[in-house]
Amino acid sequence: MKIIAVGKNYAAHAMEFDGTGEKPASPMIFMKPDSSILKNGKHFYLPDWLGRIDYECEIVVRINKLGRSIPARFAHRYYDAITVGIDFTARDLQRQLIAQGAPWELSKGFDCSAVLGEFRPVEGYDLSNLDFSLTINDETVQSGNSSQMLFSVDEIIEYVSRFCTLKTGDLIFTGTPAGVGPVKIGDHLRGYFGDEKVLDFRVR
Ligand code: ZN
Repeated sequence: MKIIAVGKNYAAHAMEFDGTGEKPASPMIFMKPDSSILKNGKHFYLPDWLGRIDYECEIVVRINKLGRSIPARFAHRYYDAITVGIDFTARDLQRQLIAQGAPWELSKGFDCSAVLGEFRPVEGYDLSNLDFSLTINDETVQSGNSSQMLFSVDEIIEYVSRFCTLKTGDLIFTGTPAGVGPVKIGDHLRGYFGDEKVLDFRVR
């Protein structure tokens, strides 16, 4: 399986990242390897040799059908489950690689950098207007609504499936709202859809 992720898909986060909040012509896509998955509430062991590690709280969509060149209007037929995840990012390394004009894949693809909450059937939620949030040590650090995405889930699927065949089990990290920041050992992260907790793990 593969993990597809979208960068700068919320204007307010794009603004805090590099001062631009404009909608790009197409979604900014990158991938994380399957070895980056961390799930079932397992501890995240901070790879402190990588420098600053930032949390990015995101809605994650699970693909349930093989498809390529999927039009946006049919895209909803290709996923069945959603959760809240964390796209951990080695921020110092990412900025260093961007400055060099080098690929920054490794700053996003290290082990355990794709944390998954418990999946929920997508039918139970309105993905066009879904509140989600992240708390650290009981303080809300990020909150967003799916309606603020610059590219909707269906538009992301249309775009990326022109390049890559989507397969059952593939995951899409749909981008983070504003408020990203570093984690430290001892932090307790919880992710929510509205008031419903779907993600719960600790940094060790
Ligand atoms: Zn992200």
